[in-house]
Amino acid sequence: MIGWVLKKILGTQNQREVRRLTPLVGEINRHEEALRPLSFDELRGKTVTFRERLAKGESLDQLLPEAFAVVKNCCRRFTEEKRRIRVRGQEILWEMIPFDVQLIGGMVLHSGRIAEMATGEGKTLVATLPTYLNALSGKGVHVVTVNDYLAARDADWMGEVYRELGLTVGCLQHGQTQAERRAQYACDITYGTSSEFGFDYLRDNGMATTPEDQVQRGHFYSIIDEVDSILIDEARTPLIISGPVTVSTHQFDKYKSIIEGLVRRQNALCTDWANQAKEKVEKGDLQGAGRLLFKVKMGSPRNKLLLKFQEDPGTRRAVDDAELEMYQDTRRTELYKTKEEMYFSIDERNSEADLSEMGRTFLNPNDPNFFSVPDLITKNHDIDTSASLSTEEKLKAKQAAQADYEEASQRIHNISQLLRAYCVFEKDVHYVVQENKVIIVDEYTGRLMPGRRWSDGLHQAVEAREGVQIDRETQTLATITIQNYFRLYEKLAGMTGTAETEANEFKDIYRLGVVVIPTNRDCIRKDADDLIFKTRREKLNALIEEIKKRNAAGQPMLVGTASVESSEIISRMLRRENIPHSVLNAKQHQLEAEIVARAGERGAVMIATNMAGRGTDIKLSPGVAELGGLHVVGTERHESRRIDRQLRGRCARQGDPGSSQFFISFEDDLMRNFGDSRKIAGLMTKLGMEENEGLQHPWLNRSVETAQKRVEGRNYQVRKHTLQYDDVMNQQRTVIYAWRSDMLNSTDPRPEVFETVDERIGSEVEARAGTDPVDLDGLLHWANSAMPLGLQKEDFQKAGGKEEWAKLLKTKVREAYEVKVKFENPEAVKALERFVVLGAIDRLWQEHLYAMDGLRTSINLRAYGQKDPLIEYKNEAYGMFGELMGRIKEEVVHNLFRSASSLSAFESFLSALPQRAGRGELPMEAADQSTEGSMSMQAEGGASMVEEALAPMKRQGPKLGRNDPCPLDANKKFKNCCGATGAKWCLKVGA
Ligand code: ADP
Ligand code: MG
Repeated sequence: MIGWVLKKILGTQNQREVRRLTPLVGEINRHEEALRPLSFDELRGKTVTFRERLAKGESLDQLLPEAFAVVKNCCRRFTEEKRRIRVRGQEILWEMIPFDVQLIGGMVLHSGRIAEMATGEGKTLVATLPTYLNALSGKGVHVVTVNDYLAARDADWMGEVYRELGLTVGCLQHGQTQAERRAQYACDITYGTSSEFGFDYLRDNGMATTPEDQVQRGHFYSIIDEVDSILIDEARTPLIISGPVTVSTHQFDKYKSIIEGLVRRQNALCTDWANQAKEKVEKGDLQGAGRLLFKVKMGSPRNKLLLKFQEDPGTRRAVDDAELEMYQDTRRTELYKTKEEMYFSIDERNSEADLSEMGRTFLNPNDPNFFSVPDLITKNHDIDTSASLSTEEKLKAKQAAQADYEEASQRIHNISQLLRAYCVFEKDVHYVVQENKVIIVDEYTGRLMPGRRWSDGLHQAVEAREGVQIDRETQTLATITIQNYFRLYEKLAGMTGTAETEANEFKDIYRLGVVVIPTNRDCIRKDADDLIFKTRREKLNALIEEIKKRNAAGQPMLVGTASVESSEIISRMLRRENIPHSVLNAKQHQLEAEIVARAGERGAVMIATNMAGRGTDIKLSPGVAELGGLHVVGTERHESRRIDRQLRGRCARQGDPGSSQFFISFEDDLMRNFGDSRKIAGLMTKLGMEENEGLQHPWLNRSVETAQKRVEGRNYQVRKHTLQYDDVMNQQRTVIYAWRSDMLNSTDPRPEVFETVDERIGSEVEARAGTDPVDLDGLLHWANSAMPLGLQKEDFQKAGGKEEWAKLLKTKVREAYEVKVKFENPEAVKALERFVVLGAIDRLWQEHLYAMDGLRTSINLRAYGQKDPLIEYKNEAYGMFGELMGRIKEEVVHNLFRSASSLSAFESFLSALPQRAGRGELPMEAADQSTEGSMSMQAEGGASMVEEALAPMKRQGPKLGRNDPCPLDANKKFKNCCGATGAKWCLKVGA
């Protein structure tokens, strides 16, 4: 009921929005008509006029109707002259003039929102309208596509319009050199994938050592195609640039065989329980059987007998009942006891493994504590309150306790990753082994992801399990999540066929509204109710029969699967039936685009994972419409309703006929893990389900959707959670990158350097003067060891109070520096000054990233201490960041004098810095935090440009809104801190 009311409200709101834009459509069309008599040169001349009008202060909004009209008119001319365009080596005839709904879509995109437009509505063309308009600003518009092939295709294809109208178009491709990339960004419009854009940003800001090394020129406006897949599916994927870790800490080899023993024991135990359950079932004791099977589920979720029992609605229900019962709050202790009856327990939903007392004893009979985390807090407390220890001894004892703690955490971490590797991850489902390497299978697309790695040691644990070479763990040099990269843009817009179900998330996280654009022609697709089967086998058999039947009639079919594995199973079954078909796994984008374009031909059977061929249009060939058009069969419901909608949307485009249906079974992962099987089993009994026969009823659909909503909710929480943690890093990164970029682009770095030196002096003097008595000796020692000043105590005593000391130091340090650089080449000195700061920032920032990784890992352990890990994380992170800023400044002071007396010596100092061995040698990664850890993708390093966005930005800190938290104190809002003074920046960072 509430849903219905909401829908009504949303519906009308959406309609209002569309109605609001409609008058503009008329205006655009009137302008377009007026353009028709012009010559092509005169049309092109419009671009110049628009730019002049912008320069005179007109806004993009004011230009919109005329600019859209110019694009539309250009399309009309192409269509009339039957222009052929070379797109990726093939000639394509241009035959499209934007429909009115496309103009509305374009306006929505211009306004910085998401346009939901069904598949086949021509979003590629829609994007040209706001892209042309916004590119008139000269600030660079970025159009983001799903893969490299589509970027190149759209730059070729849509590029024809822009080029004809006098704008330049670029296209990013993997493997381009720095110079090539810079040239693409220098264009008015740049097409590329999200990771190419994101990595360039990281390289520009985390690695470039001269402005010439940078390739991007700011983040003005971006349109993201298939925005849901980028901002939602890929949102948990941070881009990471990494280098090898200097010391490796893994001990997977060492523990592998003992873990195998443990897993064997556990499996034997679980099989035993499963057999006992069988006896109980035979005796009619379902409840008893359920309890035993629940234990099996916890200890070995993929146990064969268990899976078999779960096929039977009766026993399945008994297991669910037992589970439900055990997860009640009142049964906590019992649940705990049950976990202690096995060696370890597995939470399949969260894919975590937890060692029990019994497991720990098995691993180390002499010292079970070997595998538990020492209680550091109590230990430290004991040390602090011990009367027999001196201050120094206490310090030593604490350090030793800390070391113990870290070692034990490492050990437990290794063990639990190995357990996950053995019990949660399954070969040929989550990964495959090829050429002595473990290759991840993408959970959304079923596509192999060579080069990607699970992080946090998980990948290595799986490598250990498979007995392949364990690759070295890498260290993060620079990282950003795709989410945060796109938050950099002044204006962001997106388009997709499926945004509505995720509208809340877009709004909450990106402040992106969703507007659903009506289709050009009414959609007449018929969506049949799901067919539900007890087992996968029954489902697949029925599916093949269905394919055979429709294929015999000549109707083309698209069979969507959730994984490469099930694509292959279906393909094998079809081969046995001699039904010709093709299989797409989203591995070769261009080839697949060509194949999928033919999916609408008579008798075609196409099996595809859900990403395969996305972005390519399926047109019906003659005669197919009479057969009912393209029929889409889903072989499994996806975790998210959105992905199912996408699959359905592949047929019945532009008013074509088409139909869709999903085949599902109780053994599908979704149903196993999240289905309310009790309710469904009840329904099935009520509706009278026969063996081997699928059941179809709207009630069942609703049950499935409930399960999906449950998963969607959980996944949203995971993403939000990741974001909350990442926000902390994001703020810190903003400060560091702004500082770095400021230095990099400064033509006269010296004042900046001395600003830093002064801040450092200021805080040192403050600290020394703050003690009682005043620590003059300490100050003297610090000043003389950090800088070659040769000051005497009398100098301070003569000077007076702390203000005078600071002044004295500031004057002296300048004098000393003047002497040092007097005979150097002034340009070389500038470079040196720049490098002094960059070197310090990079080295310490990387160390900081490493420490933050560690903090992130260890913070979860503290959850046991009844503290909110996020708050703990924020507090510690803020503390660490303050320290980092202090340490960078200290290093700048030191290196300014120490680095060298000549540039050549300075260069050797530079090359000694560990990670800046050279661009292009740095491997690159993208990480996925879908399973707690993250995933990494290696790629070649490349390149990186200058401009407005990077130009002199005042460096005091990140630009903050009045409601942002203070970067140094999570509990304070910026407005109560620096914001009160009207500042836009945090004035206290590192002060
Ligand atoms: P989407 O991305 O929305 O799924 P595409 O951009 O791939 O759709 O376009 C689908 C098909 O529709 C393409 O073949 C394109 O040429 C065609 N098309 C787009 N706009 C028009 C138009 N205004 N008139 C005719 N055909 C169009
Ligand atoms: Mg598209």
